[in-house]
Amino acid sequence: MKRLMLSLLSVLIVVALVVSYFLFLDPAASRNRTLSVVKFIRNPEQYPDWVIPALSQCNNAPFRFPTSGFVGYFWDDSFRPGHRHQGVDIFAGTDVGVTPVYAAYEGYLTREDGWVSTVIIRIPADPLHPGQQIWTYYTHMADAVGNSFVSAEFPAGTHEVFVKAGTLLGYQGNYSGDPVNPTGVHLHFSVVRDDGNGKYTNELEIANTYDPSAYLGLPLNATDPPQLPILCNSGQ
Ligand SMILES: [Zn+2]
Repeated sequence: MKRLMLSLLSVLIVVALVVSYFLFLDPAASRNRTLSVVKFIRNPEQYPDWVIPALSQCNNAPFRFPTSGFVGYFWDDSFRPGHRHQGVDIFAGTDVGVTPVYAAYEGYLTREDGWVSTVIIRIPADPLHPGQQIWTYYTHMADAVGNSFVSAEFPAGTHEVFVKAGTLLGYQGNYSGDPVNPTGVHLHFSVVRDDGNGKYTNELEIANTYDPSAYLGLPLNATDPPQLPILCNSGQ
């Protein structure tokens, strides 16, 4: 009897796991997006209208689009159970080190010691919520083995250098930290919360980031996923 109860319990646990996987993570949605991403990066020349040009200002949003490419993954997408994506992934469809990355909005740039592929820009007055400070985070600007494509103007150890919107920050790369498993060539861009004491919070936690949709004037939230490709309707 006890054994029966145990096996019943384990069946219930498995069912609960499967149900929660499909209910809360919606893997089908991100799997469909993966198909689109693979289609695009294999033959980008076939999908020129999937590309949003760099520095586009979509729907009068405050931020400019920070690079040229196809938006393949959204904020709050899930790549594996329990994972929640904290930003948007914009795929160039080019080789590494080719497609420029620009500041989406003016602010004060920091590249910490040891940062190979990343910069973060402090925006003292959030254009959507004046009075609050936010940060914009740009990463994957290096090749698979860690040759940095961040602009030479911003070496590791750079702190609080003012940059205007449209300043060249570097070039898209495929750096993942693991040379054997690089990412596809893309920019990961996110809007990061301040800790209230003038410092950025840990970008890896989605709770520390904002939905970037309103900042970029595009539907970028995976919980209400738009059809791909998403396009910049006005102001291109
Ligand atoms: Zn990403």
